[in-house]
Amino acid sequence: MNDQLREEDIGLWRRTHYSSEINLSNEEREVTIMGWISSKRDHGNIQFVIVRDKYGDIQVMAKKNECPEELFAQFQLLKEHTSLAIRGKVRPQEKAPGGAEIIPSELRVFSIARKAAPFVLQSKTQIGIDTRLDLRAVDLRRNVLQSIFRIRYTVLNACREFLARQRFIEINTPKMIATATEGGAALFPIFYYDREAFLAQSPQLYKEQLTMAFENVFEIGPIFRAEPSRTNRHLSEAISIDVEKAFVDYNDIMSLLERMILHVLDSIKEKNKSDLAALEFQFPNVELPFVRYSYSDLIQLLRESGKEVRWGDDLSPQALKNLPDERTNSFYFITDWPTSIKPFYVKANAMSESGRISESFDLMHGQLEISSGSTRVNRKDELLERMKKQGLNTQSFDYHLKVFDYGMPPHAGFGIGLERLMMAITNIDNIRDVSLYPRDIDRLTP
Ligand code: ATP
Ligand code: MG
Repeated sequence: MNDQLREEDIGLWRRTHYSSEINLSNEEREVTIMGWISSKRDHGNIQFVIVRDKYGDIQVMAKKNECPEELFAQFQLLKEHTSLAIRGKVRPQEKAPGGAEIIPSELRVFSIARKAAPFVLQSKTQIGIDTRLDLRAVDLRRNVLQSIFRIRYTVLNACREFLARQRFIEINTPKMIATATEGGAALFPIFYYDREAFLAQSPQLYKEQLTMAFENVFEIGPIFRAEPSRTNRHLSEAISIDVEKAFVDYNDIMSLLERMILHVLDSIKEKNKSDLAALEFQFPNVELPFVRYSYSDLIQLLRESGKEVRWGDDLSPQALKNLPDERTNSFYFITDWPTSIKPFYVKANAMSESGRISESFDLMHGQLEISSGSTRVNRKDELLERMKKQGLNTQSFDYHLKVFDYGMPPHAGFGIGLERLMMAITNIDNIRDVSLYPRDIDRLTP
């Protein structure tokens, strides 16, 4: 390509300092930095190269008469995204990140960027999301996505930390399964040796079974749903944070969930200060307990606002738009849903007229559903009855039903969509942006 800029192996070169360590405490020290070029400014006799590593940016300044001639010529040829290492001395520079810059003495190029990326790194959004997703690994180098995925990592750690403290253990359940667990979204069929099987829509039945032996369990893993419609809140493969606890009901679980959300938000405030500053959005400010609307009260409220909704219908995001903003622009619960629109394992409230109301809740953020949870049915006859009512073939659930003959504890739980939670926290409209490699009806690559 170019005889002056050669690609070389890493060989014996190793990083001595991260960007976060390029500051006055290392003044005059010889350092080796590694990363990729996030931007470059060419002022003729001075070349500024900004190298980014996992912690941030480092300014490197090559001046024509201070730097070996061959090295300066190489600097002139460098392009954004190139992966490289630079050796040099740390010098004070007020205007550079960390108050210091590097005066280079040696350069090793690992991989030259051959094309200009079809998007700008510093900008939040400017081109169609599909162009970005097609080159996702490069797209993920953008500042805003870097911040989002660092926050995501904090969310996952905070959930694990919180649940461990509440005496939960982490489980993993099969993702290749024989039968459906949820109504609604369709299953993805797969070949399983000589049989048909499916990808799991949720760990629901397994996590319920595991409360028999472990009482309090949680799983963080993928769920697969063939969602027929193209929306900004549905993926075919999402990450679910599933929690199930023995000897409690849905009220205890709502309280557990809201405390977990609070812990997640507090952890982000503590660990992602610079990400929050960079994202420039209104971080959710919450107070416990979250507002609770019963489904029936909400129907009443919506009717009063002039919306035509029938008791027994699901609540669409469009319908929820009619709720007063001051109550619903943060997290809130909708409780006590009609039993008929909840899955068979959701317990009906024995006090309600012929069990038409269930012990269930959805955690909402604005119009977005973040989580569904409930008290579960723990008696076999009740479960069988509910399955029949919903037209399910009870035989295909034999493997599940038989454990109910051996003392299933009362239990309750919820599942949170991690990407939905991330949308709420980071104020992102399209779920595809908070998934590393989103899967939807149109996309199976990269
Ligand atoms: P929705 O009504 O929004 O389609 P749901 O009620 O069908 O969701 P649940 O079965 O209650 O979903 O699943 C629990 C949680 O998992 C949801 O509250 C949501 O956060 C998340 N979730 C469900 N389906 C998807 C999906 N296709 N993509 C992303 N997240 C999802
Ligand atoms: Mg739901």
